[in-house]
This record gives sequence, C-alpha cells and structure tokens, in this order.
Amino acid sequence: MSTTTRINLSAPWIDERDEELVLEVLRSGWLSLGPTGPRFESMFAAAVGAPYCAAVSSGTAGLHLCMRLAGVEPGDEVITSPYSFVASANCAIYEGATPVFADIDPQTFNLDPAAVEAAITPRTKALVAVDIFGYPADYDALIPLCERHGIALIEDSCEALGATYKGKRLGSHGHPAVWAFYPNKQMTTGEGGAVTTGNADEHELLVSLRNQGRLETSSWLQHGRLGYNYRLDDLSAALGIGQLEKLDRILDARSAVATHYNELLRDVDVETPLADDEDHVRSWFVYVVKLPSGVDRGAVMAQLSDQGIATAPYLPSIHLQSYMRERYGFSEGMLPVSEDCSERTMAVPFHARLDREDQERVADALRGAIA
Ligand SMILES: *Cc1c(COP(=O)(O)O)cnc(C)c1O
Repeated sequence: MSTTTRINLSAPWIDERDEELVLEVLRSGWLSLGPTGPRFESMFAAAVGAPYCAAVSSGTAGLHLCMRLAGVEPGDEVITSPYSFVASANCAIYEGATPVFADIDPQTFNLDPAAVEAAITPRTKALVAVDIFGYPADYDALIPLCERHGIALIEDSCEALGATYKGKRLGSHGHPAVWAFYPNKQMTTGEGGAVTTGNADEHELLVSLRNQGRLETSSWLQHGRLGYNYRLDDLSAALGIGQLEKLDRILDARSAVATHYNELLRDVDVETPLADDEDHVRSWFVYVVKLPSGVDRGAVMAQLSDQGIATAPYLPSIHLQSYMRERYGFSEGMLPVSEDCSERTMAVPFHARLDREDQERVADALRGAIA
C-alpha cells in the first residue's frame, strides 16, 4: 500500500467568497429566475467580450439550443470534430440531424479547415467548431468558409474560457459560442453553461427556448414554441459570480502550472501541448501529452496509477464510440489523424492549485514510465 497521497485529475477552486454568495441566495429564498441569474449573465458577457449571454443548465444544453438557432432539422448534416467531447456531435443527433466528422490538425487537435470544406454537402446546415483543450480553432479560415457556403457557425468554447484568437477574445466574434461550467472546467457553477452571441434575436430565442418556450410577452403558462427546461438556477449563478470575480487569478494560476509542467517534461520523450503564438493564446483546460507511437499508453497509465497519479485517455474519437458505430456504421480508418491522436494522448493531473511537488511527482513518474 502506498503512503503517498493521490493526485487527482482536476479540482475546482472554491473559497469563502463563493460560499458567501451561494448562502446569500439560499437565504433569500429566490432560488430560480431571481436577480442573480441576470447579474451572472452580464458579468460573463463582459468577461468574454460578447454583447449577449444566456445562462443554461449545461454546456450540452447550450449546444442543443444552438442547433435550434441554426434551424437544424431531420435530414440535415452538422459537421464537427471527432476529437472532442461527445456533446459536440450529440447536439446534432438531438435534432434528428446526422453528425459528419472532419479530420483534425495533429498539432492543434482542432478541425482542419480543408477537411471541413471537403465534408460540406448540400445538406450541411451547421458547423460546430471546437476550441479543444482551450486552443482556439482556425477562425480566419472557418468563418469565411461558413459564410461562403451559407452554413451556421457554432463555437464549442466549453474548454476555452479566456482564450484569444488574433488578439480577440473567444466569444467576441459574433457567432454563438457555448461555454460549460462543470467542476473540471476553468470555472464552475456545479453544473451549468452559457451561450453568448452578438445577435439580439438569437439571444431572445435562447432565453425563450431555455425557459420552456415562453415568449417575452407571455405569462407563465403560455408557450409560444417547443422549449426545454435548460435554466441555470440562482444558486449556481451565485457560484458563477464568485468564480468570475477571481477568474483572472484562476487563469493565471492554471497557466503557471502548465508552464511548470513544460519545464519539468523538457527531458521526457512526450510531445507537450502546442505553445502559444501571436495569433493563438490558449486558456489552460487540461494538460495533455502525446506519447511517442509504439508506447503502450495503457501500461503508462497503470504505472502512474500505481503511484497514486490519476490520468485519462483524453480524448477518444467520437465516431468510434460504440453508439456511433452502431448508429452510423463508423469504423477505424475513417479519420486517421484523430484516431492516431486518440491512441496517443493522455491527460495528467491539472488544476489551478496543483502544487509544485505533486507536479514533480507526475513528471518523475512519467519519465520512469516512458523510459
Ligand atoms: C465540457 C464540454 C462540453 C459540455 O459540457 P457539459 O456542461 O458537461 O454539458 C461540451 N463540449 C466540450 C468540448 C466540453 O469540454
């Protein structure tokens, strides 16, 4: 039995201020559709530089609503990245559309715009571009591509809060962007999410859809369209306010942890995450290394686990999940770049308050396991 403490994959940063804000709402008795939701929304909109923000119950709910915004219907196709969390593709299926995967760039792990263009057909209704691991996708290529083909662009920025592309914050580009606040994300509301947009009509539709299709003018039991209960409650929104108050500190701390990993892993035979450049400033969501081909990732993970270090095979390619194979007949070889990345990438413990000693333990264990 090991005497060392376990090092977890992620951990939220919750402090007394968060507790205070949540308690305040709890004691007010106004637990949903109160004043705290809109306060959180305007703070969040300001944080990402978007004119409008609609808080929702999860990132997945936000992506689903964006399918409704885009008018996605049965028979349509929605292009997205296979190297993402399943929600990026599931949202299309919820509306009866078919997910179409385009392959990725092996360095950024984001969609390859040429592959996206090749995947477009007359039935393509939307593109869900993902900023995977907080690294901005190639918007200078994707935005004109969508305009040229009349396709709605939805940004899955669930992992990218605080990232910038060519000096502009993600969320400020005008198209709908979706955010998620599950406890492993940069900030958390427990469960929760948001959709930001630059378009007032889209925002009004989001607000109606998340609230059972109620119209701005209608009373509680009048519903103008098919909607959902995708509301974020006020307790969660209060936690979100506490998180936003310290967002800069959270992001700086995560970035410092990543920089330290980069140094510690310099002499270890793994590919560390792509460095920022002038055009791409990442927001650190996870720290994912790519193992050399031929290294047995399962054995590396087992060795780290024996030393009390959590890891995850981040991320499996979505098209190879069993339900995807069964529904669509997808199989190996369809998306070779994504599949190769999926076999070789691994997330190591990463969060804002991971201590340096734990980081050294992770680096030493990885060095030993790869050697
Ligand atoms: C976390 C995440 C989501 C969904 O978030 P939930 O809030 O868990 O529904 C969607 N897409 C990506 C890329 C994510 O990382």
